[in-house]
Amino acid sequence: MLKDLREFSKLSKDIIENQEKTKISNRFKPEELLERFDISLKDEGIEDPKLFNILKDITTNSPQTSSNLFFNQLFGGLDSKAVVGDLIAVLLNHTMSTYKIAGPMVAVEKEIIKKIAELISYPSTFGGTFPTGGSMSNFMAMIIARDNKDPNYRYIGKSSKLICYSSESSHYSIGKNASFSGIGRDNVRYIKTNEKSEMIINELQKNIEEDISNGHQPFFVNATLGTTVLGGIDPIKKISKLCKKYNLWLHIDGAYSGSTIFSNKYKSLIKGIESSDSFCFNAHKTLGTPLSTSILMVRNNQHLLNSFKNEAEYLYQTDPEYNLGQTSFECGRRNNSLKFWTLWKSIGTKGIEKMVNHNYLLANFALEYVKNNPNYTVYSHKDSLSICFNYKNIDPKILCDELYKNNTLLIGYGSHHGKTFVRLVSVNRENKKSDILNFFKTLEIFSETLD
Ligand SMILES: *Cc1c(COP(=O)(O)O)cnc(C)c1O
Repeated sequence: MLKDLREFSKLSKDIIENQEKTKISNRFKPEELLERFDISLKDEGIEDPKLFNILKDITTNSPQTSSNLFFNQLFGGLDSKAVVGDLIAVLLNHTMSTYKIAGPMVAVEKEIIKKIAELISYPSTFGGTFPTGGSMSNFMAMIIARDNKDPNYRYIGKSSKLICYSSESSHYSIGKNASFSGIGRDNVRYIKTNEKSEMIINELQKNIEEDISNGHQPFFVNATLGTTVLGGIDPIKKISKLCKKYNLWLHIDGAYSGSTIFSNKYKSLIKGIESSDSFCFNAHKTLGTPLSTSILMVRNNQHLLNSFKNEAEYLYQTDPEYNLGQTSFECGRRNNSLKFWTLWKSIGTKGIEKMVNHNYLLANFALEYVKNNPNYTVYSHKDSLSICFNYKNIDPKILCDELYKNNTLLIGYGSHHGKTFVRLVSVNRENKKSDILNFFKTLEIFSETLD
């Protein structure tokens, strides 16, 4: 093991140095890959130096998501302490399902969940888990809400129409999850949003009342904290009032901007979060932990147990209170908490708050830049981590595509209400104002080469 880890250590140096040297990646066509790289698997194996050389070739030619020219996804840049935490998790190779196997790691996970419950002011009944990502967090929340509405559903299934509500700007996992959970894709009401991509509350109410009068059973509202394209935040407080009135589960999908809970400066954006029944966020999106670090919180742990607990004598043999498999979707589950704990322990809650504030600072800085430059048309709004714009009427699809093909910038586009635009995401806390200015300068110079 140690011999391979020494080779790994050399390789990681190469990977990091290459990240600093090359900008984003060399772009290869998918059909070139097997020719260009020694990827194909054979009957016979290969010797060590050869293997590590091939690994070096592939890894240093892969897209560099930690580059300061990478703005394509809702994640970017890695926190080095979190990386160390994740590498240790691999070496330990626990499953988080039982105390017998995970030992102190159970306390690591529980501590994070406890601290997040404090941040969002959940009562002492709180619970939580680390699902494989935001899509899975949303799925688990929907299942819990379904079982809460009708405890028989998990045994006999049901044909009566349970209806869920989510905005037209919400993440696509909601539709998929409705299908997986037996609710059905057609029973998601996609509520209209305003120009900031926030759910229009009157539309929500209208839909709920219409469904009730048609004899359907509304049960679940998904409010988005940070819509995937524009970074908008649904009016949580108003939605919460409706949920109380109609007895609906309120889930908050904060996969993108949920880390705002750490910020005293920006917490006014998320007023009402404490009244939700469940909430999730992805630390891997805005806080620089490796993929994936997703946390699902529930107001009452009993709901998690109701939906996910299962007897398994062969597995659960000690310490019932500490067997985290009783509240998870998975049976064997990798340790996704240690990396977040390592980060949190090293810089404290105040350090994480600084990260979040810095993301917003850079986002608002970028927004001011495009607002003050007449060559840009702006589509996004203040205090959103997504800065959406078009430059000089250049087709955003062509612009993003050409930037990619020429290995200049990795950036994507999105649409809202029929308008398509470039989306710059400000989630890499390592970036400085100069990186944002460099981004715009690079884009502007590159645009001159397009005709
Ligand atoms: C990214 C995202 C998700 C999905 O999270 P994954 O971890 O990629 O599954 C869900 N909701 C929103 C709002 C997101 O931005």
